[in-house]
Amino acid sequence: MRENTGPHQVAVIPGDGIGLEVIEAALAVLRATRVPLEFQRYQAGDECLKKQGAALPPATLAGALAAEAVLFGAVGDTAAEVILRLRRELNTFVNLRPTRAFPGVDCLYPELKLVIVRENTEGLYGGLENEITPGVVTAMRVITQRASERIARFAFEYALRNGFGQVTAIHKANVLQKSDGLFLRAARAVAAEYPQIGYQEALVDSTAMNLVLRPERFQILLTPNLFGDILSDLVAGLVGGLGLCPSANLGDDHALFEPVHGSAPDIAGQNIANPTAAILCGAMLLRHFGELPSAEWVEKALEGTITAGQTTSDLGGSLSTTEMTQIGRAAWRERA
Ligand code: ATP
Repeated sequence: MRENTGPHQVAVIPGDGIGLEVIEAALAVLRATRVPLEFQRYQAGDECLKKQGAALPPATLAGALAAEAVLFGAVGDTAAEVILRLRRELNTFVNLRPTRAFPGVDCLYPELKLVIVRENTEGLYGGLENEITPGVVTAMRVITQRASERIARFAFEYALRNGFGQVTAIHKANVLQKSDGLFLRAARAVAAEYPQIGYQEALVDSTAMNLVLRPERFQILLTPNLFGDILSDLVAGLVGGLGLCPSANLGDDHALFEPVHGSAPDIAGQNIANPTAAILCGAMLLRHFGELPSAEWVEKALEGTITAGQTTSDLGGSLSTTEMTQIGRAAWRERA
């Protein structure tokens, strides 16, 4: 992170659909913490493409590159041009997705705490799709030793720093022998440097089943890009839904925080989206800046609000996005 004496510079890219609503909620909570943050808003996404002719205008990319952190909402059909490109341009090689259940939320696993550490720059998401002849399309899956070792090291360091005792490398090396074979060899080499952290490997398909049947077998899932994307929606389902799950895209020089969910056009514009994931992104952003007490208060206030059943309809409550945010903000103020 850069040295900075003034307020932290945060680029805000709300995007499309519920991205606009939940980022507004996160900003309201971040402002209430009184941590010195300066927000610069930028356009991106489907609507931006219609209005400006570019889904990720140069000014937005430049703003994201110049900021100390980015708070991102969601985009619709332009995800490949916007968020995948941003992750590449910012070289955020880690996609960190910590998921936890909240007391009071009716879900399959009320005690669950699980983290997905997903490689974020390659795999099938490198944008290397080709129509080689009409009716035949290829998509290149790139796995490199460098990126695999880098993400594995992040997973083990994260385990050490955050009190986790085990990392599971997720793969399909019985079929994708060369690419996932390389991913696993890199993970094993890094695992050998961390004898204090348990290491296991699991096939992605059986992991999908075991996450539903016995998720307590897992603590940190270390995954190539696509597997991590799919499994994180599954894990969201175990704790009560996508509205609860934040993520961070982290690199050596940049950090971008975004809810795991997308733009959810089915509920957009109705003020009913659950703001929790976006507010938790705000808490992750505060941690990134070393503002630990504020981050903890935000998380506690949110937990109190959810536990009291003061939630949006996806969690069985009847509050709007703005009402849930206001109650969370008020709880924060009382505790502060
Ligand atoms: P993407 O491809 O961008 O991940 P998606 O097609 O998986 O998007 P999402 O936008 O993530 O779709 O949403 C899937 C469904 O989950 C939505 O239709 C919506 O009903 C629900 N959902 C997602 N986010 C929220 C939220 N914050 N609050 C309430 N419901 C949500």
